[in-house]
Amino acid sequence: MNSAEASSQHISRSDPQVNIDPLTGLGNAQALREKVCQLASDRAADPAPFTIGLANLDGFKPINDLFGPAAGDAILRQVANRLVACVPDGVTVIRASGDEFAFVLPLIFERKTAEKMGLMLKEVLSAPFDLGERNVRLSASFGFAIYPFAGSEFDDLLKSADTALYRSKRRGRGQVTVYSQEIAQEMKRATQLEQALRNAIIADEVDVHFQPIVNLKDDMVVGFEALARWCDPDLGYVSPAVFVPLAEERGFIDSLSEALLRKAAHAALSWPKELFLSFNLSSAQLTDPNTSANVLAIVNRAGLEPRRLELEITETAVMMDAEIAKKIIDDLRSAGIRVSLDDFGTGQSSLGRLREFSFDKVKVDRAFVSQISTDRACEHIVKAIVAMCDGLHLEVVAEGIESFAEALKLKALGCGMGQGYFYGKPADAVTTLRYIAEKYQDKPTAIAV
Ligand code: C2E
Ligand code: MG
Ligand code: MG
Repeated sequence: MNSAEASSQHISRSDPQVNIDPLTGLGNAQALREKVCQLASDRAADPAPFTIGLANLDGFKPINDLFGPAAGDAILRQVANRLVACVPDGVTVIRASGDEFAFVLPLIFERKTAEKMGLMLKEVLSAPFDLGERNVRLSASFGFAIYPFAGSEFDDLLKSADTALYRSKRRGRGQVTVYSQEIAQEMKRATQLEQALRNAIIADEVDVHFQPIVNLKDDMVVGFEALARWCDPDLGYVSPAVFVPLAEERGFIDSLSEALLRKAAHAALSWPKELFLSFNLSSAQLTDPNTSANVLAIVNRAGLEPRRLELEITETAVMMDAEIAKKIIDDLRSAGIRVSLDDFGTGQSSLGRLREFSFDKVKVDRAFVSQISTDRACEHIVKAIVAMCDGLHLEVVAEGIESFAEALKLKALGCGMGQGYFYGKPADAVTTLRYIAEKYQDKPTAIAV
């Protein structure tokens, strides 16, 4: 008996053929509805809780695209078999659609047990799938909803499980979420924020501010980092650390980033020509092969010389798809744009990365700089980074310098450049121009606008 037959046997006792998914032999979406409604009606007199779960394979589509639909089908069949084999008696496994599976768990009454079940299922799916000449690995995201708290009607209950699943996807791969009121609130807030941000982009209300980067030898400004700023009339100030990832998750980072780069490049045109503009690329952009062409088109249209632009990227972003990231970095650098590694020392810091990829500059994370005057270990770390970058011919910027003492220490360690509130907070384009004019007062010849 092959495994598809095994799973078919598992469910066919109670379900008519019409409710069966032909690929896996499991019940289909209709079977899920019937099973849940049946369970709810069985318990009508004494409404004891039960749980439904959804599992969605992470990154299934690219595998399907890469290896072909036959390989995709083989994986789905193996997933079905594994799930059927590992769930306790009485649990129904269903293929709800595409790469989404569902579970009806009559004996799970509360969050902790649902979570435990999710973690077990996740583990079961984490082992490699056999595709004949090769093995592939996949993870899965899970969402659970407990009846009747998360919905006393099938559609509501399923929607809650879907919300929980969506949250798991949002938080990265391989997460398990059990629906609760707090999660519903959190999702609602994120959706409100998304709507407001989409409108703000259309209305051109997301702004860029600029923070000076100085040469630590003479404290002269050498460039500015562009930082996104958004203040919504209802929601108030929203940090870019919140709205940039949101735009990434909801798939409109390109339009946000394009609007910001356009504004930033335009502002930089009024600065002296020797000042560079440093712009943060988001991690999603480093997995998109069109990024280098898009960036170049924007700066060319704005009339900014590519040599005046630097792009800041993070290690985590580089590692999401190292091959594409490498190509983007190489393309940008051959067009004359410089690339810096942001927040160095946090993330998955691997020194090998500095060799594999060609960067021009390393920005030492504020976490080290903020303790440099009080913590000997931080001082040694920064000293080592400076020496290493020196050897690799990479420039170094210390981020988050807040005091004279920190600046002094960094100068003594031979750090080339610095940035932080001590030298200037991020300010809007007009204030930045005034700041430049003040700094250049004593050096009028340097203003080559
Ligand atoms: P980042 O690129 O590492 O930017 C530096 C952050 O440190 C900025 O926070 C800046 O305001 C803050 N900072 C600078 N000096 C000091 C200091 O002396 N003390 C303290 N406490 N903070 C300092 P911000 O503007 O809130 O941005 C947070 C993060 O959001 C950025 O970190 C960057 O990852 C992201 N981000 C900001 N603007 C953009 C953007 O236009 N595009 C993308 N993709 N990401 C952006
Ligand atoms: Mg940055
Ligand atoms: Mg940084």
